[in-house]
Amino acid sequence: MQKKIPLRKCVGCGEMKEKKEMIRVLKTPEDEIILDTTGRANGRGAYICNNSDCLKKAIKNKGLERSLKSQIPEEVSIRLQKELG
Ligand SMILES: [Zn+2]
Repeated sequence: MQKKIPLRKCVGCGEMKEKKEMIRVLKTPEDEIILDTTGRANGRGAYICNNSDCLKKAIKNKGLERSLKSQIPEEVSIRLQKELG
């Protein structure tokens, strides 16, 4: 029996992948942009593959901004780059 695994779309490369292979960036109900390392926080999430190329693409094509309908603060970009570097 095959279990259906929910897939998420990367805002960088646009591929569908398993959540565990991705990093979630979240907009909280307070409109804060955070890196959700637990995958459980409430809010609107955007997903990026766990690699720095996809992060670069997501920043370049504004995929994160579009997906979260928010500016991504500089410190969040920096933190993401550290996480994925
Ligand atoms: Zn990707």
